[in-house]
Amino acid sequence: MKAVFLTGHGGNEVVSVGERPDPQRGPGEVLVRIKAATLNRVDLYMRDSGAGITHTLPHIMGVDGAGIVEEVDDDERLVTPGMPVLLYPGVTCGRCEFCQRGEPVLCSAMKLLGEHRDGTLAEFVSVPAANVFPIPEGLDFAEASALGVNHLTAWRMLFTKARLRPWETVLVFGVGGGVSLAATQLAKSIGARVIVTSRDAAKLRRALELGADEAIDSSTDDVARRALELTGGRGVDVVFENVGAAVWGSALKSLVRGGRIVTCGATSGDQPGADLRRVFIRQLQIFGSTLGDPSELRELLNWCAGGRIRPVIDSHFTMDRIHDALDRLEAGAQFGKLAIEVAEA
Ligand SMILES: [Zn+2]
Repeated sequence: MKAVFLTGHGGNEVVSVGERPDPQRGPGEVLVRIKAATLNRVDLYMRDSGAGITHTLPHIMGVDGAGIVEEVDDDERLVTPGMPVLLYPGVTCGRCEFCQRGEPVLCSAMKLLGEHRDGTLAEFVSVPAANVFPIPEGLDFAEASALGVNHLTAWRMLFTKARLRPWETVLVFGVGGGVSLAATQLAKSIGARVIVTSRDAAKLRRALELGADEAIDSSTDDVARRALELTGGRGVDVVFENVGAAVWGSALKSLVRGGRIVTCGATSGDQPGADLRRVFIRQLQIFGSTLGDPSELRELLNWCAGGRIRPVIDSHFTMDRIHDALDRLEAGAQFGKLAIEVAEA
């Protein structure tokens, strides 16, 4: 089968497009003919070093994906050949302390597609049946694939961790990125007030068109001061961020007393000043989060029914143009997700 795979670690020269062996479907697994996937920041991390993530080379890239069920066990009850599905990327053990208490996203033996095991930028992927979910009506394969990682991550951060409520205000940093954009969509969909930041005026305009209430240009404005102005001096209830060190200080200063900050990334650095006095005196809560549970994905998919949420696709690439797509991701030039069309839709 045709696939995008790593032959080493470095720049795009280690990213190849070519033939890899078809996956062998095991008992209890579903063979999926992938139609589309989208890129995530971790794809760049895997290309650059993959340090700390056990994997073997050559390694097929791609964490999310969507396609058509090709083959299942004879006694499979819920999944049938021909069904359009999206993938939950984590293969969990079902037996560890965390799986057994109902938080498989914390599984101590979690194997993620495109990280610990071969990924989705391939014509076929075989995963346990528990990892496939029907695509909500009205979404194409690229949009659907984004739900399984990007929107799931934002969902857990906003609703499970920070417990955002419809009458609250959330400040979303770096709105050009996929997860921040997903958070903007999801927060608006429950009626919350959303303030977004970006250094790019065009991205701020796009976010306002998508329903964001206020936009702060972080290249010209002091974000914390502006966030306080926009909330009558009170501060926001929730900060949603994955930028890290570059914004951490202003993120903490933007929060109301007792406010919550939730983070899933640190692209600008992971060792900001902690500002502990502010954290305890103002009784702030800091949440770390990554991905989400299958149960949260099911909630998200139910919420997406009827076209309520449609992931924003920045641009589409064929597998042969993977280098261009990775360049665009690395430059941060995108607004929304970069889709890789693995097969014709
Ligand atoms: Zn487990």
